[in-house]
Amino acid sequence: MLLVGYCFGIRSERRLCEEVHVNLAYRWFCRLGLEDPVPDHSSFSKNRHGRFRESDVFRHVFEGVVQRCMNEGLVRGEGFAVDASIIKADANRTRGVAADEGIDWQDPGLGTRAVREYLQALDDEGQIGATPKNTSLTDPAARWTAAPGCPAFFGYSTNYLVDVDAGVIVDVEATAAHRIEETEATKRMLERVEQRFALKPRHLIGDTAYGSAPMLGWLVEHKNIAPHIPVWDRSERSDGTFSHSDFTFNAEHNHYVCPAGKLLKPAAPNRLKNPYRYRASQLDCRSCALKPQCCPNMLGRKIDRSPYEPARDVARELAKTEAYRQSRKDRKKVEILFAHLKRILKLDRLRLRGRSGAHDEFLLAATAQNLRRLAIWFRSKAMTVAAAPA
Ligand code: SF4
Repeated sequence: MLLVGYCFGIRSERRLCEEVHVNLAYRWFCRLGLEDPVPDHSSFSKNRHGRFRESDVFRHVFEGVVQRCMNEGLVRGEGFAVDASIIKADANRTRGVAADEGIDWQDPGLGTRAVREYLQALDDEGQIGATPKNTSLTDPAARWTAAPGCPAFFGYSTNYLVDVDAGVIVDVEATAAHRIEETEATKRMLERVEQRFALKPRHLIGDTAYGSAPMLGWLVEHKNIAPHIPVWDRSERSDGTFSHSDFTFNAEHNHYVCPAGKLLKPAAPNRLKNPYRYRASQLDCRSCALKPQCCPNMLGRKIDRSPYEPARDVARELAKTEAYRQSRKDRKKVEILFAHLKRILKLDRLRLRGRSGAHDEFLLAATAQNLRRLAIWFRSKAMTVAAAPA
């Protein structure tokens, strides 16, 4: 019944029970005969929050559908794309408390399941990222977030890992709407898909949010996955002076060569403090004609090299290839899935609270999207067979 609700955008459980009662196709799908009683919406709700969640049956169903897509040849495992989309939480924006006001979580009025779950997660994992500016008393795990041009709201991110061949969602995870959590979720999804389905992509497509140095380092050095991801680079300067990319690194001799052909060597006195800092000789810089374009306010130029710079270099080189240009187009398949999720499946606001509620809703919605993909595939297969000469 839940799958019927998510496939056809029926968001209210009361309405879903009414629809299943009168719709013969829904009854057939739920294996209910004409005379069979349809569960009452309150007992339906109780099961959803109780034994369904405890048994992790939603993930079991989701993975069953992914396996079916694999059996039909819809998943090649060559290239995956990752992205996140923010969905509004069921939390009124006026029921938020600013970070400096403090919240008495012992207040009996706050003893809800969503609050208990949030406090338990804080005990287990601690605060991830900076303290949020605003915390919801209704659903504290939801993150206060603002899209450009819109008023801020509380929301969760649905993270999709998609096989770009046929656009099948191979994994999904709910996180707070926060960049660090989204990149960590990507790592977990890649590990889980490898473990459950023995699938490991050759390349991963993502936007700049996934192009941080540690993430690229993890992909290249730990997983041997080619990052088709723009490098998140804050070293590029916009004031007209030379950027990091204007200096050439010589790995063999461990130094940079500046645009004037001088060397920047590892900064020995700071070696323990920052082993990745390189400095030019002040003598060279003082007499250099390019100094106004390089380090006008300093005695000599310095460059900080990330410990993950080799992985960043791999990503930069990949960005010049034809395969990368194709990946930019393939990334749109995830955006189409998010647009479909919000407009057709009407999941633009959650009905369930807490991280576990978001997790259940996102898993069911992704299952519905994969089922629709399978249905389209079966229809085109049937048409091909019908059109074939006898
Ligand atoms: S100022 Fe120093 S680092 Fe910059 S280009 Fe001249 S010599 Fe090289």
